[in-house]
Amino acid sequence: MLHADMDAFYASVEQRDDPRLRGRPILVGGRSNRGVVLTASYEARPYGVHSAMPMALARRKCPDALIVPPRFERYQEVSHQIMKVFADFSPDVEAISLDEAFLDMTGSAHIFGAPREMGRKLKARVREATDLPVSVGVSGTKYVAKVASDYGKPDGLVVVPQAHAESWLAPLPVSRLWGAGPKTQAKLRDAGYQTIGEIAAADPDDLERQLGTVGRRFHDLAHARDVRRVATVRASKSISADATLERDVSERSAIAIHLRRSADTLGRRLRRKRYLAGGVRVKLKSHDFRLITRQRKLSDATDIADVLYRVGVELLDEFDDPGPFRLVGLAVYDLEGEPAQVELDLFGDAARQRRLERAIDAAAEKFGRDALLRGSRLVDGLTRISPTLDFLDDDES
Ligand SMILES: [Mg+2]
Repeated sequence: MLHADMDAFYASVEQRDDPRLRGRPILVGGRSNRGVVLTASYEARPYGVHSAMPMALARRKCPDALIVPPRFERYQEVSHQIMKVFADFSPDVEAISLDEAFLDMTGSAHIFGAPREMGRKLKARVREATDLPVSVGVSGTKYVAKVASDYGKPDGLVVVPQAHAESWLAPLPVSRLWGAGPKTQAKLRDAGYQTIGEIAAADPDDLERQLGTVGRRFHDLAHARDVRRVATVRASKSISADATLERDVSERSAIAIHLRRSADTLGRRLRRKRYLAGGVRVKLKSHDFRLITRQRKLSDATDIADVLYRVGVELLDEFDDPGPFRLVGLAVYDLEGEPAQVELDLFGDAARQRRLERAIDAAAEKFGRDALLRGSRLVDGLTRISPTLDFLDDDES
C-alpha cells in the first residue's frame, strides 16, 4: 500500500504560482479574524502555526506571514493532474482529499520495481506534472503507509516493510494513532500511555475498559494490524462508490446525478458478488473536507440499483449542511449472501427492475459497459469513481 500526500498543498500551489510568495511564511485562508488557517507554508510552521488554527491566533504567532485567500478551483485543477499521475501507477486509487490518496500497489512490482523505486518514480512524475513536492509512504497497510508519508514530510519517501512495521511504530507518540483526536490523546496520556509501543504492550481488555471499543482498535493499529486491509481479504461489510468532483456541487439535482451513477456501480457489484444490501448510506464531503453521512436500514435487502438510488435521494433530506460538496458517495452495508437457489421473493415493478438490471449486466459483459451508459450516467465533471471495499465504520478518512 502506498500513501501519497502533497506537502502544504494549498500553500505550495500559491508559492509555485506567485514567485513573490516563495521562501516566505504564508497562510492560506480567509482574511477575516473569524476564519481559520487552511494551510500554512513550511516557512510559517516554526512559529507554531498549523492548519485549522484560528486566523487571529496564527497572525499573532506569525505577524510577518502573508495571508493568501484560497483559490479552490486552482487547487482542484492541480488535484486533477495529481490524480491522473496516481492513476498511471495503480488501477486502485482511493482519493482521501484533493491532495492525498492511497494507491494499492499489489501486483505492480513487476512494472515499477521495489517499493522504494516505485515511490521515487511516483515522486518524480508528480514533480514533472505539477512542479510540486509530494511525500510518499509505503508499507503493508494503509495505516502505516499514511504514518510513514507524514513522518518523512516534506518531500519524503519512507518505506516500512510490513515485518518491521510494529517496531517502527513503537517509539512514535500516541498522537500518531489513527482516529486519536485531541480528547482521546488526553485520555491516553491520563491512562499513562505515551507511545504506540506502550499501546501495543497493553492488555486489549484494559484498553477497551479505559477507552471504549476504540481501545481495541488502537491495539490492532499499534501491532500494525490494520482492519481495513483485512476487510478486503474477508467478506467486506460494506461497499462504497464515491465520486470526487472537479467542481463542487450543492444542488440536489446535481448530487442526485452522482448518486445515480454510484447506485448503478454498487448494484452491479452486489449482483456480481451475489450480495444483498441491508442498508444504504450517503456520504458528502464539504469543500473544507468535513465528511457527513446519513444512513438507513432497508426493510428488504436488495441488489437493485434503482432502490439504492431512491433511498439515497431520500436521505438527502436529512442533511442540514447546504454544501457545496466536493465528494458525493453512496455505500451499502449489512451485506448478506444471496440465497443460493431460491429466487428473491419479488413481484411487479421490483422484479421487472431487477430483471432489467441483470439484462444490462449481461449486455455490459458482452459489449463493454461504456456502450450502455445511460444519459443520466454521463456525468460531466467527474474525476473518478471507484468502488472501494471498506468497513462499516470506516468513515474518518
Ligand atoms: Mg497534504
